[in-house]
Amino acid sequence: MASPDYINQRVSDVTAELIAHGLPLTTPAGPLAIDPNGWLIHNPAIDRTSPAWCTAVRMLADHHHTPLVDQIPTADALLKDRGIRGLATLHRNLAGGAPIDYRFTRCPYCQGLGEDPTEPSCAELGCRVPADISDHPHGCPVCRGANCEPEYYAEQQMNQVEQLLADALTTRTPPRRTVLRSLLRRR
Ligand SMILES: [Zn+2]
Ligand SMILES: [Zn+2]
Repeated sequence: MASPDYINQRVSDVTAELIAHGLPLTTPAGPLAIDPNGWLIHNPAIDRTSPAWCTAVRMLADHHHTPLVDQIPTADALLKDRGIRGLATLHRNLAGGAPIDYRFTRCPYCQGLGEDPTEPSCAELGCRVPADISDHPHGCPVCRGANCEPEYYAEQQMNQVEQLLADALTTRTPPRRTVLRSLLRRR
C-alpha cells in the first residue's frame, strides 16, 4: 500500500540510520510473562520500520536533541506498551503534559492533514460502510482526524468571543424604553 511521501521519507531516513549503526529493524516477540500482580505481560515484536515507530523515535530525538539511536529503547517501550496511541501520549508529555488541541498544533504523525498516513483499507479497519462506496476518509489515530488550521480556528474563536461579549452586554443593558417604563412605573 502506498503511503504519502513524507511518511516514506521519514521511514527511509530512520531505516538508513539503523542500518548504518548495524541495528536490527525488528525486535522479536518475547515470551508471555506474569507480573507480580498476576497480570499477563505481552511482549509483541516491534517493527522499527513502521511509520509509528519512526515518528516516535524522531520526536524523541528532536525533542531531546540527541542522536536518533539513543532514543531506540524509549521508542521500543512506548510502542510496545501503548501502540500507535502512544504517540499522542508522547506528544502531550513532550509538550509539558497539557492536552494538545490539534486544530492549533500540527500532528506529528499525519502532519496536520487529519488522515491516517498509513492509508489503511476499510477491510483492515472493519469499517461498516466501505470507502469505495462512500469515499470516507480514515482519521489519524493520533489527532483523531483534526484539521490543523490555526488561523481559521483563531478567527472562529475570536468571533465566538465577540458574540458572547455582545450577548452579555445586551442582557446587562436593558433597552432604553424598558428603563423609561420602569422609571415611570416607580412614580
Ligand atoms: Zn473505511
Ligand atoms: Zn494526525
